[in-house]
Amino acid sequence: MTRVAIIGGGIGGLAAARALHRRGVELAVYEAAPELREIGAGVALGPNAMKVLRALELEKAVRGVAGRCEWLVSHNWRTGRVISRTSQREQAALYGCASATVHRADLLDVLAGSLPARVVTLGARCTGVESDDDVASARFQDGSAIEADVIVGADGIHSAVRASLFGADAPRFTGKICYRSVVPVAAVPGPPPASDNAQWFGPHGTVVLYPVRRDELVNVVCHYDDEGYRHESWVTECDRDEVLERYAGWHESLLRIFSAGDVWYKWALYDRDPIPHWTRGRVTVLGDAAHPMLPYLGQGACQAIEDGSVLALALAAETDDPVRALARYERSRRPRASQVVLTSRARGTSNHLASPLSAWRRDIAIALRRRLRGDLEGRGAAWIPAYDASSPEALAA
Ligand SMILES: Cc1cc2nc3c(=O)[nH]c(=O)nc-3n(C[C@H](O)[C@H](O)[C@H](O)COP(=O)(O)OP(=O)(O)OC[C@H]3O[C@@H](n4cnc5c(N)ncnc54)[C@H](O)[C@@H]3O)c2cc1C
Repeated sequence: MTRVAIIGGGIGGLAAARALHRRGVELAVYEAAPELREIGAGVALGPNAMKVLRALELEKAVRGVAGRCEWLVSHNWRTGRVISRTSQREQAALYGCASATVHRADLLDVLAGSLPARVVTLGARCTGVESDDDVASARFQDGSAIEADVIVGADGIHSAVRASLFGADAPRFTGKICYRSVVPVAAVPGPPPASDNAQWFGPHGTVVLYPVRRDELVNVVCHYDDEGYRHESWVTECDRDEVLERYAGWHESLLRIFSAGDVWYKWALYDRDPIPHWTRGRVTVLGDAAHPMLPYLGQGACQAIEDGSVLALALAAETDDPVRALARYERSRRPRASQVVLTSRARGTSNHLASPLSAWRRDIAIALRRRLRGDLEGRGAAWIPAYDASSPEALAA
């Protein structure tokens, strides 16, 4: 039986663990943190991720904790004019599954709960990996080491495994920043906020809102052009007044929601080119360790979930040769994930158009594309939700 060690117990690592466990792989997950935990924020799971979770028999559990949401809507920042509107039902009919919006901690609970006890070792910070003809090994900060047939780096954007294989990366500041908060619905003054999965496009910015934990919380993510702030941490707090000032003039329903957010975070968005290799011998990477991306498509976690599914397919198809399996995994995944990275980059530019004429042209293009079969979002990226990473066809020859 192939022994697989996964470094990192985030969304990507645990989704991969679930997929591998179902294939009968002998499994161990090593997580640096003293407990499995997630930042207090939402995550949108597109139809492509939900198809994998369905195949892993986790769809019901995820929908059980998801936000109550029927519509995916995009709006004009000032007037609220609807640019596009799609129902979950239409999405399911066209792409084979509807999306869901969940609190990250709830998703992690579902994933962790689907694994046998004692698979995850906590407080294990990996410092480096090695691979030779017979075995892969990982070293940890406390001086310990482990061996396995395959090691998978699922240790996030600042991956020690990726750095150990390929050296440090070179992120570029995008000139864009992000604010986020999770707002209790009951705290929003005035009429209750719509329970849509909504995007608002405005000059220099985008606002994304969706419900999580049934109809208890609204997840808020706001992007803005700003050359001045360069700090990449996801957990640095900022003042609510800064957010209200920045979005002054945007639709009043947004400002009411913002005013009810007690804790706000702010981080600078850095972009990284797709890396040319993911694998060396018996060690590979997945999720943000393999393809960190800008958040404009809401696909970082979705792609990580796809990775785990295809990795399990590859190891099941090449039981006698883990090196061949990892090469097939990379051949299957790297082209698609790299394309998502580049599409996400382009989407940031198109979402923030400042010229009213350019924004009008974008909105007309959305309307026209939506009339064509197969592109409900109208942005030319229907190939993302249409894909099924749980299908054997996802595995390259
Ligand atoms: C605010 C926010 C909103 C987002 N919204 C969306 C969305 O709507 N849809 C979407 O698809 N994506 C979204 N993303 C992106 C998505 O969250 C990431 O792409 C996803 O978390 C990647 O999962 P991962 O498991 O690869 O990495 P991570 O989630 O970063 O997990 C990595 C894990 O590895 C552990 N680790 C790190 N270093 C080591 C080490 N040396 N040794 C051992 N363990 C280690 C960490 O503690 C962590 O548990 C969002 C991101 C943010 C910040």
